[in-house]
Amino acid sequence: MFNCPSAETPRPLTQARRRLPIAAAVAVVLLVAIAGAYLVFDHAAERAKRHACAKTLSSIGQAMLLYQQENRSEFPATLAVLLEPVGASELLVCPWSKNTHLYWAGGLKPGAPPDTVIACEPVGSHPGGAHVLFADAHIEFVSNNKLKTIIAELQSGHNPPRAEMVK
Ligand SMILES: [Zn+2]
Repeated sequence: MFNCPSAETPRPLTQARRRLPIAAAVAVVLLVAIAGAYLVFDHAAERAKRHACAKTLSSIGQAMLLYQQENRSEFPATLAVLLEPVGASELLVCPWSKNTHLYWAGGLKPGAPPDTVIACEPVGSHPGGAHVLFADAHIEFVSNNKLKTIIAELQSGHNPPRAEMVK
């Protein structure tokens, strides 16, 4: 008696045919893991850069407060006037982008409100934005669009920038 071929039990998959989907799945898992590791690394590296940059501006803020204690609350005419006598001219630039900080306090009267902008980085100094130093020595990381608005306010003589303009 002959066996009808269609009545045979299905042939098991060969080892090669079975291995291929597993290898593909392993490759996908590895690629996703590698891509994820790079993203985490990039994110951590950028966070470290931003932290170092914020520390630079924070040092300027502290130096400014000391300068004002010694000089009847006045602001120095330029950042160089503030930093060069103490040999800290490297603080004039962002340690990562190497962009020179923009200084906005020259000529301001003593007793400026805390939200007065002392200095900031140029737009685009870091991915997504840049740092701004305020008169009370606090630092904010703001988006490039917000920074453009802040700089436009400062250039038109509004320091502190008008709250209704900067949202
Ligand atoms: Zn920076």
